[in-house]
Amino acid sequence: MRACAKCFSASTWVLNASPPQSSPGNCDFGHGYDPHTWPTTAWIDSFIRLFEIYELEDRVGYGLELHLQIQQDWRIFSFDEPRKLRQFLVSAIQDEHPLADYGTKVRLKTTGEYGGTDPLLSWAQFSDEIRTRNRYFPQTVPDRKILERVLLESVEHIQKDIALYRARVFEETAPSAIEMGAPPAIKAAAGRANPVGIPYLYLSFALETCIYETRVANHTQVAIGTFHATRDLSVLNLADVEAPDFFDIEEVDSVAEQIRRVSFHRYLSALGHELKKPVRVSDQPTDYIPTQYLCELAKSLGLDGVLYSSSLHADGRNVVLFDVDAAACDHEIKVIEITSLSADWRFVGR
Ligand SMILES: [Zn+2]
Repeated sequence: MRACAKCFSASTWVLNASPPQSSPGNCDFGHGYDPHTWPTTAWIDSFIRLFEIYELEDRVGYGLELHLQIQQDWRIFSFDEPRKLRQFLVSAIQDEHPLADYGTKVRLKTTGEYGGTDPLLSWAQFSDEIRTRNRYFPQTVPDRKILERVLLESVEHIQKDIALYRARVFEETAPSAIEMGAPPAIKAAAGRANPVGIPYLYLSFALETCIYETRVANHTQVAIGTFHATRDLSVLNLADVEAPDFFDIEEVDSVAEQIRRVSFHRYLSALGHELKKPVRVSDQPTDYIPTQYLCELAKSLGLDGVLYSSSLHADGRNVVLFDVDAAACDHEIKVIEITSLSADWRFVGR
């Protein structure tokens, strides 16, 4: 079977793919005629090397089939359809790998520094314990060294000239620039990032995102403040967690290092997912304790905040800053009125 560049996730392909000589042809994965196509076997060595970090999952009810697991861990392909993923893999390796057998479930090998314990599982157990059993002296603390290394691997800088936005709904008088900031400690309700009584400053990277974040109703008035960081900031980036690069595998020194990269990616993705869960009226205040812990850990590592995806605005990005004075509001406040709202939905059953 033949593949084209469109079959692969764009960013890594452009940077590192360096495939052999191409020829014009038809892509067998739905992209039609392309002047550059390759046989899927062109990447056989990379795939075989990739498979070294997985082993047979023998526990019933655990694991994913190889083609699903590598797509989840490495985001190699631009498509996610299981049938196409499997076709690609089987044709690329000429059906010669036991782990690629239909129905065989795999897991990450438990060798090396990151083997033996599943960091995701230990985070889940820890989350449960500090929510429901032991708050301040938990027994199941995840490996702090690993967690700290994971967090410090995904640090982003926000410079002073970047505009950030914060919106407030108001009824009569628009708030001043000072009132656009974080609430005083006494009024700080618990959020996904901040514990009750400890205010953090929540900002958005786009004006539209901050409007969605207020969950406005139609015909309400919203004041929008533009903020700039008062110093260059380093934040934990849980919004743009990049998968390790499949086309870079050859340069990676060992199986253990590849396992580390996959484990870290899984860990960061899961933590980012926790932080982006929408805040709901039915939430219990204790639901936020694990993410509050995560933010305090980031703070203790000297970071200024956490960047995360908006659950209310597709592709929107937010940042929460631990020091409420780390960004200041410009004097000019914009005032808008919401004139219409639209909704998208999906069916989830009856
Ligand atoms: Zn293609």
